[in-house]
Amino acid sequence: MSEKRLATIIAAHGRHYLAESDGLKLQCVTRGKKTNVAVGDIVHITLTSPDQGVIDKIEERKTLLYRSDQYKSKLLAANLTQLFIVVATEPGFTDDLVSRALVAAEAAGIKAHLILNKTDVAESLPRTRERVAPYAALGYPVHEVSAKAKPEETLAILKPLLAGQSSILIGQSGMGKSSLINLLIPEADIAVREISAALDTGKHTTTFTRLYTLPELGPDAAIIDSPGFQEFGLYHLTEGMLERAFVEFEPYLGHCKFYNCRHLIEPQCAVLAAVEEGKIARMRHTLYGQLLHESSQTLY
Ligand code: GDP
Ligand code: ZN
Repeated sequence: MSEKRLATIIAAHGRHYLAESDGLKLQCVTRGKKTNVAVGDIVHITLTSPDQGVIDKIEERKTLLYRSDQYKSKLLAANLTQLFIVVATEPGFTDDLVSRALVAAEAAGIKAHLILNKTDVAESLPRTRERVAPYAALGYPVHEVSAKAKPEETLAILKPLLAGQSSILIGQSGMGKSSLINLLIPEADIAVREISAALDTGKHTTTFTRLYTLPELGPDAAIIDSPGFQEFGLYHLTEGMLERAFVEFEPYLGHCKFYNCRHLIEPQCAVLAAVEEGKIARMRHTLYGQLLHESSQTLY
């Protein structure tokens, strides 16, 4: 009789997955050509050797984030409870990318936070604080840290936030995401090398999403690191999901003249009126319009 195991997917590369079960790492594949497994998935595995197996079944997901793939949404990570967007005093960050990440989190039912890194760059701090203030006003917590200049304080701020949670860190290049990951998981580099060997990704490939468990922060605590800035797949979002993902629209929804108002050019639209009055940031409404347009272009 072949042994069965319940495991968590900790890395994915094509159809090849690395799963972890009670500290044991298992190389596994899906049946057939399926690639419907995401990092963070809880899976049932039938072992084919002591460290290899086949994925039989995926447990029902609590949450699911998608990445963008040429007008399609593909799986990025499952069962996350929170998403941290790393921004920095320097170099500058892009509001469009921050808002897209926030929309992805809202649509998935994941709590979103901002991490403002490199607060030691004093000359850029006031301006950067001004730039993140609108996100704080929308209800997204902003945590100020300095991965390089104040590592101990940074850890003291981040650890309580990560305890018991399954989190993903994302950020544009240069914001200090790797510095934060290395601070939180000092053995991250070794783990990446082990994983790429196990998945046979080739020596120079670090372009896979991976999950690190954080045992000192609780049995369920984990952090997912995803290479580059994840362009989130938002194409699967329906119009209703999109309007609700812009949290500041909420007081106005249901107050437009037309019950099926898309809040773009319709007369007597409560959302457009709020934009005109400055109660909704124009930049956010513009992004909403873009996303609505993009989701109607899907190649499904
Ligand atoms: P990533 O591209 O987001 O992974 O960013 P890195 O972690 O590679 O950091 C980009 C650059 O910012 C590196 O030169 C880091 O040394 C630097 N950096 C990271 N954190 C801080 C910080 O708190 N303060 C300052 N001044 N520089 C930092
Ligand atoms: Zn409207």
